[in-house]
Amino acid sequence: MPCKDKTEDNEKEILQKVIAGEISFRNIDKIAESADSAVCIRRNALEEITGTRFETVQHYTFDVAAATKRNIENMIGAVQIPLGIAGPLTINGEFAEGNFYLPLATTEGALVASANRGCSAISSSGGANVRIFQDVMTRAPVFKFDDVVQAKAFTDWISRPEIFAQMKEKAEGTTRFGKLLDVEPYVTGNTVYLRFIFDTKDAMGMNMVTIATEAVTHLIQDEFGVIPLSLSGNMCIDKKPAAINTILGRGKTVIADTIIPAKIVEEKLKCKPETMADVNYRKNLLGSARAGALGFNAHSANIVAALFIACGQDAAHVVEGSTAITTIEVTKNGDLYCSVTMPSLPVGTVGGGTGLGTQKDCLKLLGVQGPGEPSGSNSKKFAEIVAAGVLAGEISLIAAQAAGHLARAHAELGR
Ligand code: NAP
Repeated sequence: MPCKDKTEDNEKEILQKVIAGEISFRNIDKIAESADSAVCIRRNALEEITGTRFETVQHYTFDVAAATKRNIENMIGAVQIPLGIAGPLTINGEFAEGNFYLPLATTEGALVASANRGCSAISSSGGANVRIFQDVMTRAPVFKFDDVVQAKAFTDWISRPEIFAQMKEKAEGTTRFGKLLDVEPYVTGNTVYLRFIFDTKDAMGMNMVTIATEAVTHLIQDEFGVIPLSLSGNMCIDKKPAAINTILGRGKTVIADTIIPAKIVEEKLKCKPETMADVNYRKNLLGSARAGALGFNAHSANIVAALFIACGQDAAHVVEGSTAITTIEVTKNGDLYCSVTMPSLPVGTVGGGTGLGTQKDCLKLLGVQGPGEPSGSNSKKFAEIVAAGVLAGEISLIAAQAAGHLARAHAELGR
């Protein structure tokens, strides 16, 4: 919101003190009349200090009080990202069934058009099948011991069923929804990592599992006498591309596939099934292997990023979303089998940025806003939609490359 009147006495006094360095940006919230007022003072002070004149960041629809409580510190305004839709996309999932319009927030021209073409090819072919194979969130504290003898004694103790029962009770005492499923020890010399594995239902779950894991570390301290060096030892592993997440899974492990009849490949995708299969093999599989990539796909991060930003997901989890494997084969009938396997897709429909107004609207469009009934069903439905959207993006881009259309599409759409 633009400031009502930045010369109001109370605001003016705080503003002058901020400009003079007597009040820090972060302390404005404690003394301003309202959350909106704090945002105005901070922005005006920044304008004075830096000489920048903001023309647009002051225009937004957020509930500032809610956003500054949960989502942002030192708020001065908002950055807008254009929102487009692709679809309808027919999805035959266990949770997502029917036709969906995908809200895509992006500044990359041609992305929505490309995804839209993939949606059309999939929907004309009867839709995308989607299944979730695993649904977990992890946190892995790190413990340091004198030697491997102590490390082994610790992992032996952790592995006892009665200790797991105690840890489960402690963890689940911190949350109404989270369930501790397992604790996996990993050892390097005298260092032990415990990978705590949770079902977090409709929450993406990073806050939830961090709080629950911390409670368990207090139990470990009381019972075994060791405190973690850090609550996260990077065996979790969050927001970094890692083989452990692609092998064991983290977030939702979800696979989408479809068979596109040869006629539709030629009519809608303007190429032949054999050419698409060959491009996929040599680009997504051989090329990615030669490059040492963790993702064997054309651009899964593009669809994940656009959907995540639109729908209030943690944008840094695009890292995990980029590790998809895309396969394309010609069937014995000459049609085109296409799949994407997403081993690590952390998503939620409650918590984080999902409560912000514009993001809520996008989740509503998909029919997944808020908690599901039963718990967990909305986040699973959302994961199925994301995977089907990624499949649409993969099919369209591989087709464009197979037909030599990529540069032309970007040139025609002016980028
Ligand atoms: P959250 O914002 O903490 O909210 C999740 C909470 O919503 C749950 O813990 C649960 O409360 C409640 N809830 C209500 N209905 C639910 C349902 N149907 N299913 C599950 N929970 C339900 O969200 P989060 O997903 O745990 O964490 C996401 C946030 O963590 C994002 O903002 C992300 O950026 C941030 N993040 C944190 C860390 C970290 O280390 N802390 C790391 C990366 C990202 P109760 O548990 O009280 O029942």
